[in-house]
Amino acid sequence: MVLRGLLVLGTFVLSLKAVSAQDYRAMEARILALSNVEIVIVGKVEKEEAVYPVYALTTAASKKNEKKQLNVLLSGGVHGDEPAGVFALLQFLEKEAPRYAKEFRFFVFPCVNPGGFATGTAENSAGKNINRSFKKDSPALEAKWVMEQLQKWDRKFVFSIDMHEIPPYWEGEGFKAKDNPHTAYLYESQRDKKMRIGPAMLAGLPKDIEVCQWPRIYGDVAVGGLVTYPEGNFNQVYAEQTTLDGYLFEKLSSHTFTAETPIDWPMEKRVRTHLSWLKTALEKKRGSAP
Ligand SMILES: [Zn+2]
Repeated sequence: MVLRGLLVLGTFVLSLKAVSAQDYRAMEARILALSNVEIVIVGKVEKEEAVYPVYALTTAASKKNEKKQLNVLLSGGVHGDEPAGVFALLQFLEKEAPRYAKEFRFFVFPCVNPGGFATGTAENSAGKNINRSFKKDSPALEAKWVMEQLQKWDRKFVFSIDMHEIPPYWEGEGFKAKDNPHTAYLYESQRDKKMRIGPAMLAGLPKDIEVCQWPRIYGDVAVGGLVTYPEGNFNQVYAEQTTLDGYLFEKLSSHTFTAETPIDWPMEKRVRTHLSWLKTALEKKRGSAP
């Protein structure tokens, strides 16, 4: 009986894995099918038999307009169980990016944590939280590869968005499941208050998107679904700036966002929320100084 039970369990685990791995390959096929980007593999995660490349994508430099083109850094899938950002970025590159090609050049990490994406875990395949690993001697290879690629690109970004989600079951760093919002919200880092566009990004959301109205989100001060840094930051872990957003804000961009949608919503709604935020940010940043 025990053996039979183990066999059944084994088959179940295998089939789960196969389904997840197939999802990753389907996502990867969409990356490889993109016709308007340069594709680089920054590193490869090896997990049992499978190999999962971490991709970095760049849209073309405008031949006539390169000096005026604004660089934008976009990323998704840092936490493997938060997939909407990955799908939003792919949809954006497939359908919408060409419309912005004259004014913006996009630098994209579509899925920073492919091992986690394939298995549905927040952490990478080695059990590390990549979004606490953007630091010297990083414990997470994916973070190290992303930092190396950013160094190779060697440029400043007019803004960045790191697309995340809120799993309802997440607990850690002093927070319980009840502390997880079930609606959308945004972090905006920008020292110059006049330059901030977070309120416009929230106001521009489609009417059916509910925004978090809590006054505190994971310890940080929030107003109408917007957490503004640096002054709204009371979460000590985020203050360490070892998230991708924190790293970018410290080194490569004076204006950064982390976007959050709840995993409880249908995928279509989550993707639509991320795309709305991105498009409003592009409208607002259009024509600004590089
Ligand atoms: Zn996350």
